[in-house]
Amino acid sequence: MVEMDKIVSLCKRRGFIFQSSEIYGGTGSCWDYGPLGVELKNNVKRAWWRDSVQSRADMVGLDSSILMHPRVWKASGHLDHFTDPMVDCRACKKRFRADKIDDDIWIHFCEATKGNKFNIPGGEACKHCGAKRTLCPVCGKGDLTEPRQFNLMFKTFMGPVEEDAAVAYLRPETAQGIFVNFDNVLQSMRLKLPFGIAQIGKSFRNEITPGNFTFRTREFEQMEIEFFVMPGTDEEWHQRWLDERFAWYPKYGIRRENLRLREHEKDELAHYAKRTADIEYLFPMGWSELEGVANRTDFDLKQHAEFSGKALEYFDEETKQKIVPYVIEPSAGADRGTLAFLVDAHREEEVKGEKRVVLNFHPELAPIKIAVLPLLKKNSRIVETAHKLCADLRKRWHAVYDDTASIGRLYRRQDEVGTPFCVTVDVQTVGDDKAAADDKVTIRDRDSMQQVRVDLTSLPRVMERLMAGEWPQVHAEHGVTRE
Ligand SMILES: [Zn+2]
Ligand SMILES: [Zn+2]
Repeated sequence: MVEMDKIVSLCKRRGFIFQSSEIYGGTGSCWDYGPLGVELKNNVKRAWWRDSVQSRADMVGLDSSILMHPRVWKASGHLDHFTDPMVDCRACKKRFRADKIDDDIWIHFCEATKGNKFNIPGGEACKHCGAKRTLCPVCGKGDLTEPRQFNLMFKTFMGPVEEDAAVAYLRPETAQGIFVNFDNVLQSMRLKLPFGIAQIGKSFRNEITPGNFTFRTREFEQMEIEFFVMPGTDEEWHQRWLDERFAWYPKYGIRRENLRLREHEKDELAHYAKRTADIEYLFPMGWSELEGVANRTDFDLKQHAEFSGKALEYFDEETKQKIVPYVIEPSAGADRGTLAFLVDAHREEEVKGEKRVVLNFHPELAPIKIAVLPLLKKNSRIVETAHKLCADLRKRWHAVYDDTASIGRLYRRQDEVGTPFCVTVDVQTVGDDKAAADDKVTIRDRDSMQQVRVDLTSLPRVMERLMAGEWPQVHAEHGVTRE
Protein backbone atom coordinates (compact mmCIF):
# COMPACT_ATOMS: atom_id res chain seq x y z
CA MET A 1 0.00 0.00 0.00
CA VAL A 2 1.32 3.40 -1.02
CA GLU A 3 1.88 6.00 1.71
CA MET A 4 -0.43 9.02 1.75
CA ASP A 5 2.54 11.42 1.53
CA LYS A 6 3.44 9.98 -1.85
CA ILE A 7 -0.11 10.46 -3.14
CA VAL A 8 -0.28 14.01 -1.77
CA SER A 9 2.98 14.93 -3.45
CA LEU A 10 2.07 13.32 -6.78
CA CYS A 11 -1.29 15.09 -6.67
CA LYS A 12 0.37 18.46 -6.23
CA ARG A 13 3.20 17.88 -8.71
CA ARG A 14 0.92 16.66 -11.48
CA GLY A 15 -2.03 19.01 -10.99
CA PHE A 16 -4.57 16.74 -9.33
CA ILE A 17 -5.08 18.36 -5.93
CA PHE A 18 -3.68 21.52 -4.31
CA GLN A 19 -4.05 22.84 -0.82
CA SER A 20 -6.68 25.59 -0.73
CA SER A 21 -5.37 29.18 -0.44
CA GLU A 22 -1.83 27.81 -0.40
CA ILE A 23 -0.16 31.19 -1.01
CA TYR A 24 -1.69 32.38 2.26
CA GLY A 25 -0.43 29.37 4.16
CA GLY A 26 -3.39 27.13 3.36
CA THR A 27 -6.88 26.69 4.82
CA GLY A 28 -7.27 23.80 7.24
CA SER A 29 -8.63 20.69 5.55
CA CYS A 30 -9.73 22.47 2.38
CA TRP A 31 -8.44 21.24 -0.98
CA ASP A 32 -8.68 22.43 -4.57
CA TYR A 33 -8.93 20.06 -7.51
CA GLY A 34 -6.44 21.03 -10.21
CA PRO A 35 -6.76 20.53 -13.98
CA LEU A 36 -6.36 16.74 -13.82
CA GLY A 37 -8.15 16.34 -10.48
CA VAL A 38 -11.31 18.01 -11.69
CA GLU A 39 -11.37 15.69 -14.72
CA LEU A 40 -10.91 12.64 -12.50
CA LYS A 41 -13.56 13.69 -9.99
CA ASN A 42 -16.01 14.66 -12.73
CA ASN A 43 -15.48 11.25 -14.31
CA VAL A 44 -16.20 9.54 -10.98
CA LYS A 45 -19.39 11.58 -10.56
CA ARG A 46 -20.41 10.99 -14.18
CA ALA A 47 -19.97 7.21 -13.84
CA TRP A 48 -22.00 7.23 -10.62
CA TRP A 49 -24.76 9.35 -12.13
CA ARG A 50 -25.00 7.24 -15.26
CA ASP A 51 -25.06 3.96 -13.32
CA SER A 52 -27.32 5.18 -10.49
CA VAL A 53 -29.74 7.41 -12.37
CA GLN A 54 -29.71 7.26 -16.16
CA SER A 55 -29.39 3.52 -16.58
CA ARG A 56 -32.14 2.71 -14.06
CA ALA A 57 -35.87 2.89 -14.66
CA ASP A 58 -36.56 3.35 -10.94
CA MET A 59 -34.41 6.43 -10.24
CA VAL A 60 -34.62 10.16 -10.89
CA GLY A 61 -32.18 12.97 -10.14
CA LEU A 62 -32.35 16.18 -8.13
CA ASP A 63 -30.16 19.19 -7.41
CA SER A 64 -31.44 20.95 -4.31
CA SER A 65 -30.06 24.11 -2.70
CA ILE A 66 -27.37 24.16 -0.02
CA LEU A 67 -29.18 26.73 2.12
CA MET A 68 -32.51 25.46 3.38
CA HIS A 69 -35.23 26.52 5.80
CA PRO A 70 -33.77 26.36 9.35
CA ARG A 71 -36.73 24.20 10.50
CA VAL A 72 -35.40 21.42 8.25
CA TRP A 73 -32.54 20.88 10.67
CA LYS A 74 -34.82 20.87 13.69
CA ALA A 75 -37.00 18.21 12.03
CA SER A 76 -34.06 16.11 10.86
CA GLY A 77 -32.53 16.07 14.33
CA HIS A 78 -29.31 17.77 13.26
CA LEU A 79 -29.85 20.81 15.44
CA ASP A 80 -30.12 18.65 18.56
CA HIS A 81 -28.09 15.55 17.77
CA PHE A 82 -25.44 16.37 15.19
CA THR A 83 -22.73 17.01 17.75
CA ASP A 84 -19.34 15.79 18.86
CA PRO A 85 -18.12 15.91 22.47
CA MET A 86 -15.26 18.37 22.73
CA VAL A 87 -12.72 19.43 25.33
CA ASP A 88 -10.49 22.53 25.43
CA CYS A 89 -7.00 23.02 26.82
CA ARG A 90 -7.02 25.74 29.47
CA ALA A 91 -3.41 26.67 28.68
CA CYS A 92 -2.96 26.62 24.88
CA LYS A 93 -6.69 26.80 24.02
CA LYS A 94 -6.47 23.91 21.55
CA ARG A 95 -9.69 21.96 21.04
CA PHE A 96 -10.00 18.18 20.85
CA ARG A 97 -12.66 15.57 20.31
CA ALA A 98 -13.10 13.89 23.67
CA ASP A 99 -13.59 10.49 22.03
CA LYS A 100 -10.50 10.79 19.78
CA ILE A 101 -8.05 12.50 22.09
CA ASP A 102 -6.12 9.32 22.87
CA ASP A 103 -5.59 8.38 19.20
CA ASP A 104 -2.58 10.63 18.66
CA ILE A 105 0.89 11.11 20.16
CA TRP A 106 0.90 13.07 23.42
CA ILE A 107 3.54 15.31 24.95
CA HIS A 108 4.66 14.53 28.46
CA PHE A 109 7.04 16.37 30.81
CA CYS A 110 8.15 13.54 33.05
CA GLU A 111 8.67 14.25 36.78
CA ALA A 112 10.67 10.99 37.09
CA THR A 113 13.31 12.29 34.65
CA LYS A 114 13.73 15.88 35.89
CA GLY A 115 10.88 17.12 33.68
CA ASN A 116 12.28 15.87 30.38
CA LYS A 117 9.94 16.07 27.41
CA PHE A 118 8.69 12.86 25.72
CA ASN A 119 6.44 12.10 22.74
CA ILE A 120 4.35 9.08 23.73
CA PRO A 121 2.17 7.07 21.32
CA GLY A 122 -1.60 7.56 21.74
CA GLY A 123 -3.16 5.53 24.53
CA GLU A 124 0.18 4.40 25.98
CA ALA A 125 1.64 5.21 29.40
CA CYS A 126 4.99 6.86 30.13
CA LYS A 127 7.75 4.23 30.37
CA HIS A 128 9.53 6.13 33.16
CA CYS A 129 6.79 7.06 35.60
CA GLY A 130 3.89 4.96 34.34
CA ALA A 131 1.62 8.01 34.09
CA LYS A 132 -1.20 8.12 31.55
CA ARG A 133 -2.24 11.26 29.75
CA THR A 134 -4.45 13.59 31.76
CA LEU A 135 -3.23 16.97 30.49
CA CYS A 136 -3.37 18.54 27.01
CA PRO A 137 -1.69 16.19 24.49
CA VAL A 138 -0.26 19.08 22.45
CA CYS A 139 1.31 21.43 25.01
CA GLY A 140 1.64 18.82 27.76
CA LYS A 141 0.84 21.42 30.43
CA GLY A 142 -2.76 22.58 30.34
CA ASP A 143 -5.74 21.09 32.15
CA LEU A 144 -8.64 20.07 29.96
CA THR A 145 -12.22 21.27 30.36
CA GLU A 146 -15.14 18.87 30.84
CA PRO A 147 -16.53 17.62 27.50
CA ARG A 148 -19.13 19.87 25.88
CA GLN A 149 -21.36 19.07 22.91
CA PHE A 150 -20.32 20.97 19.78
CA ASN A 151 -22.69 21.18 16.79
CA LEU A 152 -21.00 20.35 13.51
CA MET A 153 -23.21 22.50 11.30
CA PHE A 154 -21.81 25.71 9.81
CA LYS A 155 -23.96 28.63 10.82
CA THR A 156 -24.47 31.71 8.71
CA PHE A 157 -27.01 34.51 8.22
CA MET A 158 -29.48 34.94 5.39
CA GLY A 159 -30.17 38.46 4.26
CA PRO A 160 -28.64 41.74 5.38
CA VAL A 161 -29.22 41.47 9.13
CA GLU A 162 -27.13 39.34 11.45
CA GLU A 163 -29.80 38.40 13.96
CA ASP A 164 -31.10 35.15 15.42
CA ALA A 165 -34.14 35.16 13.14
CA ALA A 166 -31.83 35.16 10.11
CA VAL A 167 -29.72 32.16 11.11
CA ALA A 168 -29.25 29.59 8.36
CA TYR A 169 -27.05 26.52 8.09
CA LEU A 170 -24.93 25.12 5.31
CA ARG A 171 -26.42 21.67 4.80
CA PRO A 172 -24.50 18.87 6.55
CA GLU A 173 -25.93 16.29 4.12
CA THR A 174 -27.69 16.39 0.75
CA ALA A 175 -30.29 13.87 1.93
CA GLN A 176 -32.66 16.42 3.50
CA GLY A 177 -33.02 18.26 0.19
CA ILE A 178 -34.40 15.01 -1.18
CA PHE A 179 -36.81 14.36 1.70
CA VAL A 180 -38.34 17.84 1.59
CA ASN A 181 -38.86 17.45 -2.18
CA PHE A 182 -40.40 13.98 -1.83
CA ASP A 183 -43.91 15.11 -2.75
CA ASN A 184 -42.78 17.46 -5.55
CA VAL A 185 -40.87 14.67 -7.23
CA LEU A 186 -43.54 12.02 -6.61
CA GLN A 187 -46.34 14.16 -8.09
CA SER A 188 -44.44 15.69 -11.00
CA MET A 189 -42.94 12.40 -12.15
CA ARG A 190 -45.93 10.12 -11.34
CA LEU A 191 -43.67 7.57 -9.66
CA LYS A 192 -44.59 4.18 -8.25
CA LEU A 193 -42.86 2.53 -5.29
CA PRO A 194 -40.13 1.44 -5.14
CA PHE A 195 -38.25 4.41 -6.59
CA GLY A 196 -35.23 6.49 -5.73
CA ILE A 197 -34.09 10.10 -5.89
CA ALA A 198 -30.38 10.71 -6.38
CA GLN A 199 -28.32 13.81 -5.85
CA ILE A 200 -24.71 14.95 -6.09
CA GLY A 201 -23.76 18.04 -4.15
CA LYS A 202 -21.63 19.81 -1.59
CA SER A 203 -22.15 19.41 2.12
CA PHE A 204 -20.42 21.03 5.07
CA ARG A 205 -19.44 19.77 8.51
CA ASN A 206 -17.35 21.73 10.97
CA GLU A 207 -15.26 18.71 11.97
CA ILE A 208 -13.06 19.28 15.00
CA THR A 209 -10.39 16.95 13.66
CA PRO A 210 -10.39 16.73 9.89
CA GLY A 211 -7.49 15.05 8.18
CA ASN A 212 -5.97 12.38 6.00
CA PHE A 213 -5.81 14.55 2.89
CA THR A 214 -9.20 14.71 1.15
CA PHE A 215 -10.65 11.89 3.27
CA ARG A 216 -12.16 14.04 6.01
CA THR A 217 -12.74 17.67 5.10
CA ARG A 218 -15.10 20.38 6.26
CA GLU A 219 -16.43 20.99 2.75
CA PHE A 220 -17.09 17.85 0.74
CA GLU A 221 -19.19 16.44 -2.04
CA GLN A 222 -21.72 13.67 -1.59
CA MET A 223 -23.33 11.28 -4.03
CA GLU A 224 -26.52 10.22 -2.27
CA ILE A 225 -29.53 8.10 -3.11
CA GLU A 226 -32.73 7.97 -1.09
CA PHE A 227 -34.54 4.86 -2.26
CA PHE A 228 -38.19 4.72 -1.15
CA VAL A 229 -39.76 1.30 -0.61
CA MET A 230 -42.87 -0.33 0.87
CA PRO A 231 -42.49 -0.87 4.61
CA GLY A 232 -41.74 -4.55 5.09
CA THR A 233 -39.60 -4.77 1.96
CA ASP A 234 -36.95 -2.47 3.44
CA GLU A 235 -34.60 -5.15 4.75
CA GLU A 236 -34.49 -6.93 1.44
CA TRP A 237 -33.88 -3.67 -0.45
CA HIS A 238 -31.17 -2.72 2.01
CA GLN A 239 -29.29 -5.89 1.19
CA ARG A 240 -29.79 -5.38 -2.54
CA TRP A 241 -28.33 -1.89 -2.35
CA LEU A 242 -25.39 -3.07 -0.27
CA ASP A 243 -24.57 -5.69 -2.89
CA GLU A 244 -25.09 -3.26 -5.75
CA ARG A 245 -22.90 -0.53 -4.29
CA PHE A 246 -20.19 -2.95 -3.20
CA ALA A 247 -19.94 -4.23 -6.78
CA TRP A 248 -19.73 -0.70 -8.21
CA TYR A 249 -16.18 0.09 -7.08
CA PRO A 250 -14.48 -2.97 -8.62
CA LYS A 251 -16.30 -2.20 -11.89
CA TYR A 252 -14.08 0.88 -12.17
CA GLY A 253 -10.87 -0.74 -11.07
CA ILE A 254 -10.77 -0.90 -7.26
CA ARG A 255 -9.23 -4.20 -6.19
CA ARG A 256 -11.75 -6.41 -4.46
CA GLU A 257 -9.30 -7.26 -1.65
CA ASN A 258 -9.14 -3.58 -0.68
CA LEU A 259 -12.87 -3.43 0.03
CA ARG A 260 -14.83 -4.82 2.93
CA LEU A 261 -18.23 -4.48 4.54
CA ARG A 262 -18.54 -3.35 8.13
CA GLU A 263 -21.81 -3.61 10.00
CA HIS A 264 -22.55 -0.81 12.50
CA GLU A 265 -22.94 -1.91 16.11
CA LYS A 266 -26.23 -1.07 17.80
CA ASP A 267 -24.69 1.72 19.90
CA GLU A 268 -23.06 3.24 16.83
CA LEU A 269 -26.24 3.61 14.76
CA ALA A 270 -27.43 7.11 13.92
CA HIS A 271 -30.62 8.20 15.69
CA TYR A 272 -32.70 7.50 12.56
CA ALA A 273 -31.19 4.19 11.46
CA LYS A 274 -32.49 0.64 11.78
CA ARG A 275 -29.38 -0.90 10.24
CA THR A 276 -26.29 0.61 8.64
CA ALA A 277 -23.34 -1.04 6.96
CA ASP A 278 -20.28 0.74 5.64
CA ILE A 279 -18.37 -0.17 2.53
CA GLU A 280 -14.80 0.36 3.71
CA TYR A 281 -11.66 0.83 1.66
CA LEU A 282 -8.12 0.06 2.77
CA PHE A 283 -6.79 3.65 2.62
CA PRO A 284 -3.12 4.33 3.49
CA MET A 285 -4.22 5.17 7.06
CA GLY A 286 -6.17 1.93 7.39
CA TRP A 287 -9.70 0.65 6.76
CA SER A 288 -12.03 3.64 6.52
CA GLU A 289 -15.53 4.41 5.30
CA LEU A 290 -16.00 4.88 1.60
CA GLU A 291 -19.77 4.70 1.56
CA GLY A 292 -22.49 4.10 4.13
CA VAL A 293 -25.69 2.25 3.28
CA ALA A 294 -28.38 2.95 5.88
CA ASN A 295 -31.97 1.93 6.46
CA ARG A 296 -33.43 5.28 7.61
CA THR A 297 -36.91 3.79 8.01
CA ASP A 298 -39.77 6.32 7.74
CA PHE A 299 -38.08 8.63 10.25
CA ASP A 300 -37.30 11.57 7.94
CA LEU A 301 -40.59 11.72 6.03
CA LYS A 302 -42.54 11.49 9.30
CA GLN A 303 -40.45 14.18 10.95
CA HIS A 304 -40.85 16.58 8.02
CA ALA A 305 -44.59 15.87 7.84
CA GLU A 306 -44.88 16.71 11.53
CA PHE A 307 -42.73 19.85 11.46
CA SER A 308 -44.07 21.24 8.16
CA GLY A 309 -47.68 20.21 8.59
CA LYS A 310 -47.67 18.77 5.04
CA ALA A 311 -48.43 15.09 4.53
CA LEU A 312 -45.55 13.21 2.93
CA GLU A 313 -47.27 10.04 1.88
CA TYR A 314 -47.69 7.64 -0.99
CA PHE A 315 -51.08 6.44 -2.14
CA ASP A 316 -51.02 2.72 -2.82
CA GLU A 317 -53.49 1.96 -5.65
CA GLU A 318 -53.76 -1.70 -4.75
CA THR A 319 -54.72 -1.41 -1.10
CA LYS A 320 -56.17 2.11 -1.46
CA GLN A 321 -54.12 3.14 1.53
CA LYS A 322 -51.81 5.99 2.31
CA ILE A 323 -48.33 4.83 3.22
CA VAL A 324 -45.22 6.49 4.54
CA PRO A 325 -42.44 4.71 2.65
CA TYR A 326 -39.27 3.40 4.24
CA VAL A 327 -36.03 4.64 2.80
CA ILE A 328 -32.71 2.99 2.02
CA GLU A 329 -29.83 5.42 1.70
CA PRO A 330 -26.60 4.58 -0.13
CA SER A 331 -24.47 7.61 0.70
CA ALA A 332 -21.11 7.86 -1.06
CA GLY A 333 -18.43 10.53 -0.90
CA ALA A 334 -17.25 11.93 -4.23
CA ASP A 335 -13.96 13.07 -2.68
CA ARG A 336 -13.38 9.81 -0.83
CA GLY A 337 -14.25 7.82 -3.91
CA THR A 338 -11.86 9.89 -6.00
CA LEU A 339 -9.12 9.41 -3.39
CA ALA A 340 -9.72 5.65 -3.29
CA PHE A 341 -9.54 5.38 -7.09
CA LEU A 342 -6.28 7.37 -7.01
CA VAL A 343 -4.69 5.30 -4.26
CA ASP A 344 -5.78 2.01 -5.77
CA ALA A 345 -4.46 2.95 -9.21
CA HIS A 346 -1.00 3.81 -7.93
CA ARG A 347 1.82 1.45 -9.02
CA GLU A 348 5.57 1.66 -8.87
CA GLU A 349 7.60 -0.75 -10.95
CA GLU A 350 11.03 -1.11 -12.45
CA VAL A 351 11.41 -0.92 -16.21
CA LYS A 352 14.86 -1.20 -17.81
CA GLY A 353 16.50 -0.35 -14.50
CA GLU A 354 14.38 2.76 -14.00
CA LYS A 355 11.44 3.42 -11.72
CA ARG A 356 8.10 3.74 -13.50
CA VAL A 357 5.18 5.34 -11.63
CA VAL A 358 1.80 4.46 -13.09
CA LEU A 359 -1.78 5.33 -12.25
CA ASN A 360 -3.65 2.51 -13.93
CA PHE A 361 -7.05 4.21 -14.00
CA HIS A 362 -9.99 2.60 -15.72
CA PRO A 363 -10.26 4.42 -19.10
CA GLU A 364 -13.64 5.80 -18.03
CA LEU A 365 -12.05 7.57 -15.04
CA ALA A 366 -8.69 8.59 -16.54
CA PRO A 367 -8.40 12.42 -16.69
CA ILE A 368 -6.72 12.26 -20.10
CA LYS A 369 -7.70 9.44 -22.44
CA ILE A 370 -5.16 9.90 -25.22
CA ALA A 371 -1.83 11.71 -25.58
CA VAL A 372 -0.62 12.47 -29.09
CA LEU A 373 3.16 12.58 -29.26
CA PRO A 374 5.37 13.55 -32.23
CA LEU A 375 8.53 11.46 -32.39
CA LEU A 376 10.58 14.35 -33.79
CA LYS A 377 9.49 17.84 -32.95
CA LYS A 378 11.82 19.41 -35.54
CA ASN A 379 10.05 17.64 -38.41
CA SER A 380 7.24 20.00 -39.39
CA ARG A 381 5.23 17.33 -41.21
CA ILE A 382 5.23 15.13 -38.12
CA VAL A 383 4.23 18.04 -35.90
CA GLU A 384 1.46 19.19 -38.23
CA THR A 385 0.03 15.70 -38.59
CA ALA A 386 0.13 15.18 -34.82
CA HIS A 387 -1.66 18.49 -34.15
CA LYS A 388 -4.35 17.69 -36.67
CA LEU A 389 -4.78 14.18 -35.28
CA CYS A 390 -5.07 15.52 -31.74
CA ALA A 391 -7.71 18.04 -32.82
CA ASP A 392 -9.70 15.22 -34.43
CA LEU A 393 -9.48 12.95 -31.40
CA ARG A 394 -10.44 15.80 -29.09
CA LYS A 395 -13.90 15.94 -30.66
CA ARG A 396 -14.62 12.60 -29.05
CA TRP A 397 -12.15 12.14 -26.13
CA HIS A 398 -10.10 14.28 -23.80
CA ALA A 399 -6.80 14.23 -25.71
CA VAL A 400 -3.60 16.23 -25.25
CA TYR A 401 -0.58 17.03 -27.40
CA ASP A 402 2.93 17.04 -25.91
CA ASP A 403 6.32 17.51 -27.55
CA THR A 404 8.33 18.93 -24.68
CA ALA A 405 10.62 15.95 -24.08
CA SER A 406 12.00 12.78 -25.60
CA ILE A 407 9.48 10.03 -26.33
CA GLY A 408 10.61 7.91 -23.37
CA ARG A 409 10.05 10.80 -20.96
CA LEU A 410 6.72 11.66 -22.55
CA TYR A 411 5.49 8.10 -22.01
CA ARG A 412 6.53 8.23 -18.33
CA ARG A 413 4.71 11.52 -17.83
CA GLN A 414 1.51 10.11 -19.24
CA ASP A 415 1.92 6.92 -17.17
CA GLU A 416 2.16 9.01 -14.03
CA VAL A 417 -1.18 10.73 -14.66
CA GLY A 418 -2.87 7.55 -15.83
CA THR A 419 -3.38 8.23 -19.55
CA PRO A 420 -4.39 4.83 -20.95
CA PHE A 421 -3.15 5.34 -24.52
CA CYS A 422 -0.44 7.29 -26.32
CA VAL A 423 -0.45 7.77 -30.09
CA THR A 424 2.89 8.46 -31.74
CA VAL A 425 3.42 10.08 -35.12
CA ASP A 426 6.82 9.28 -36.68
CA VAL A 427 8.77 9.57 -39.94
CA GLN A 428 7.07 6.52 -41.46
CA THR A 429 3.67 8.09 -40.80
CA VAL A 430 4.39 11.17 -42.93
CA GLY A 431 7.18 9.81 -45.22
CA ASP A 432 10.46 11.47 -46.27
CA ASP A 433 12.86 11.65 -49.28
CA LYS A 434 13.54 7.93 -49.09
CA ALA A 435 10.11 6.45 -48.41
CA ALA A 436 6.50 7.33 -49.00
CA ALA A 437 4.14 7.96 -46.08
CA ASP A 438 2.52 4.81 -44.70
CA ASP A 439 -0.22 6.84 -42.97
CA LYS A 440 0.02 4.70 -39.87
CA VAL A 441 0.53 5.64 -36.24
CA THR A 442 1.72 3.72 -33.20
CA ILE A 443 -0.63 3.21 -30.26
CA ARG A 444 1.03 2.40 -26.98
CA ASP A 445 -0.85 0.81 -24.08
CA ARG A 446 -0.09 2.21 -20.61
CA ASP A 447 -0.38 -1.00 -18.62
CA SER A 448 1.42 -3.53 -20.85
CA MET A 449 3.62 -0.93 -22.60
CA GLN A 450 2.92 -2.91 -25.77
CA GLN A 451 2.48 -1.15 -29.07
CA VAL A 452 0.48 -1.66 -32.23
CA ARG A 453 0.59 0.17 -35.54
CA VAL A 454 -2.72 1.11 -37.14
CA ASP A 455 -3.98 3.13 -40.14
CA LEU A 456 -4.75 6.76 -39.39
CA THR A 457 -8.18 6.31 -40.96
CA SER A 458 -9.11 3.45 -38.64
CA LEU A 459 -7.77 5.15 -35.50
CA PRO A 460 -11.11 6.45 -34.13
CA ARG A 461 -12.70 3.01 -34.53
CA VAL A 462 -9.74 1.28 -32.88
CA MET A 463 -9.78 3.82 -30.03
CA GLU A 464 -13.45 3.14 -29.46
CA ARG A 465 -12.59 -0.54 -28.93
CA LEU A 466 -9.58 0.21 -26.73
CA MET A 467 -11.63 2.41 -24.41
CA ALA A 468 -13.99 -0.54 -24.03
CA GLY A 469 -11.10 -2.72 -22.83
CA GLU A 470 -10.21 -4.54 -26.04
CA TRP A 471 -6.45 -4.04 -25.98
CA PRO A 472 -5.69 -7.79 -26.00
CA GLN A 473 -7.84 -8.33 -29.11
CA VAL A 474 -6.51 -5.29 -30.95
CA HIS A 475 -2.98 -6.27 -30.04
CA ALA A 476 -3.49 -9.81 -31.32
CA GLU A 477 -4.90 -8.51 -34.60
CA HIS A 478 -2.18 -5.96 -35.29
CA GLY A 479 0.78 -7.57 -33.71
CA VAL A 480 3.59 -6.19 -31.98
CA THR A 481 6.37 -4.51 -30.34
CA ARG A 482 7.09 -3.30 -26.90
CA GLU A 483 8.36 0.11 -25.87
ZN1 LIG B 1 -2.58 22.71 25.62
ZN1 LIG C 1 6.65 10.02 32.89
